[in-house]
Amino acid sequence: MRELTVKIKPLTPIWTGDEDRECRTLRETSIIGSLRWWYEVLVRGLGGSACDSTSDNRCPDKDGNHCDACELFGCTGWARKFRLEIESNKLAVIPEIKIGTREKRVIKGKKKYLKRNVAGFMADGSIILKFIPLRKISSNEWALLNKALDIIANYGGLGAKISQGNGVIEIVENNLPYRDRKPESAILKKEGNTIKSPNLNDFFFYKFHIKFKDGISNLIDRKVFWTHASDHNGFNDNWENWRKLWNDYCFLPIAFHIRDAIRQVEDDKNKRHEIFGELGKGSKIFVSHGYKTGDKTVETRIWGYDVKESIKNKIKKELENKLKEKLFSKEEYKESLESCILTEEKTGREILGVVR
Ligand SMILES: [Zn+2]
Repeated sequence: MRELTVKIKPLTPIWTGDEDRECRTLRETSIIGSLRWWYEVLVRGLGGSACDSTSDNRCPDKDGNHCDACELFGCTGWARKFRLEIESNKLAVIPEIKIGTREKRVIKGKKKYLKRNVAGFMADGSIILKFIPLRKISSNEWALLNKALDIIANYGGLGAKISQGNGVIEIVENNLPYRDRKPESAILKKEGNTIKSPNLNDFFFYKFHIKFKDGISNLIDRKVFWTHASDHNGFNDNWENWRKLWNDYCFLPIAFHIRDAIRQVEDDKNKRHEIFGELGKGSKIFVSHGYKTGDKTVETRIWGYDVKESIKNKIKKELENKLKEKLFSKEEYKESLESCILTEEKTGREILGVVR
């Protein structure tokens, strides 16, 4: 039997550790968790049922039924239909860099700056996700899984910390069955527990091209990027690692800068927490680091769900100006940014093929 594999290449580091723990191996459970999250998003978008598998609202329901997502991914009393094995060669833990918070945050009653980490795995070789069916997976389930993988690779991200830069991947090769088949809503069971959100119908996906006037290597050498507030005691810059990330792994670690820029578009502090979460947790806006498209340019993904039109419009209109304020360490460097242009825009509805 042929092996059912998906070969991927990270464009920004993949993180599969727990939020605050170290990430030393690519953990299958984390990749499955991420695949499942996207599968749920897609299933809800198609009008199927998908519980919140991480809360009390998970399956089975009181009648012992389970949702369309649990049907493939399993729940108590119903085993997952496949096993995932990850084969990787030349996996590289990236050298870590830190970006300080712009403002002091209150931690245990004390106000202080925090350090935000850029970390995770890149690969000089490839990463192979091997799907091993344990029970019969229906053609519709394969179609859903393929569609979820497509959305991850083209618009979203894989693994954890995808709201903070990680997890942009490219699919190099996919030989899973039923790649050309459209997922069908009509044959979903629509049983078990379900929650309303996140639902693909409520998603937006943007790609921006950020262009600098000078080569990015030169800008790193000149230390133009912002890394910490001037009165942030005990913060040490590591420009050598910035250089390595750009030269060896082809990405610019600016997800936190972009988040800080977007944060400015919502004036109301409470709403800001609702959209951006606390310290990256529970965020409804997701931002990638800048991955290389040229010596002077990077692409970044900004996407999310349940975000008001007015906020989305402001992101589109104001990102360039806000970025000028948040990317650089000094006023005089602002001119280094040539442009920040929206190059692709998709709604979840469009991805679902619903035209309104
Ligand atoms: Zn379920």
